[in-house]
Amino acid sequence: MQHERVSENVYWFQSEVYAQVTAGAVTGTQWAVVIDTLAMPEETLQMRQYIEEVLGMPVRYVVNTHYHADHTWGNCFFPGATVLSHSLCRKLMQEKAIPALEVTRQNNALFNKSKIVLPQLTFSQGTMTLRVGKKNLILMPTPGHSPDGISVLIEEDRVLFAGDAFMPLPYIVDGDIDVMGDMIKQIGKMGLENIVQGHGDIILRGEIEGAVKENLAYLANIRKAVKSASKKRSPEEVLSMVDVESCGKSRVNLGGLGEDLHRRNLKSLYMKFLRDGASALSLDDTDDKSSTNLPHEEELDFEEDYSEDYSDDFADEIDDEEPDNSFED
Ligand SMILES: [Zn+2]
Repeated sequence: MQHERVSENVYWFQSEVYAQVTAGAVTGTQWAVVIDTLAMPEETLQMRQYIEEVLGMPVRYVVNTHYHADHTWGNCFFPGATVLSHSLCRKLMQEKAIPALEVTRQNNALFNKSKIVLPQLTFSQGTMTLRVGKKNLILMPTPGHSPDGISVLIEEDRVLFAGDAFMPLPYIVDGDIDVMGDMIKQIGKMGLENIVQGHGDIILRGEIEGAVKENLAYLANIRKAVKSASKKRSPEEVLSMVDVESCGKSRVNLGGLGEDLHRRNLKSLYMKFLRDGASALSLDDTDDKSSTNLPHEEELDFEEDYSEDYSDDFADEIDDEEPDNSFED
């Protein structure tokens, strides 16, 4: 686990084991808030040890940016802390995480001591503000990667812990490509000092514009690829030749998972096209339809059918135990 100080009393942690997943901590005068947990129990415990012993603070709150396993399964290692999230996050954890952890525990002894702790304090509309020392932490919905996504804005520092609403490779399999694009544009307009992505490195102020453009271009490229493949005789074969680099992204992203996540993006977008027809792909990415208002729950595109559940994939990934050095760059 790597760690870094982002600004005064604000800390960042990154996994060296799984998909460069990140977490954060903000300390006040007597206690700390944790933003997401790390994927592996061992790393979450290291993070807690750092906060308690080096920073000298007990953890009073844990914020979950969304329900995916690699961000929430460590809640149980903060006994006594109150877990905060969007109300959909609690619902999705209840439905998906509990059975998914059961399966993982049967196959992976590292998760023997893990259990699912559901968020106790949730919100479903607008924002929620938590005062920590001299800072406001504003929790706001940022769906797109998943319907329950929230980000945490450290208001005084203009630092956004974006969860997976901002990633080195936008991942839309459990979300919605249009909502994702809107969210990336909105985040780009927030006047931020740093974006802490749910995976990968911290984006600095001077890099934000470029990262926003690159992510929007990627979404436009995969939409275009699916659109043109859908007109061919064997679309799936045509799509199998569209690699991540041809869509403007590196394959070494996310500890080497870049190509794999890209494949799943293409597949899920093509499935969406088969389900919803051409309207699934017709939106023009150059058309700026994003509003400056944060979305409310009624605007969330909540899909009941998760044909590919990241939590389940996560259980598979950590079983593989392939040596993976690409996060060391
Ligand atoms: Zn996620």
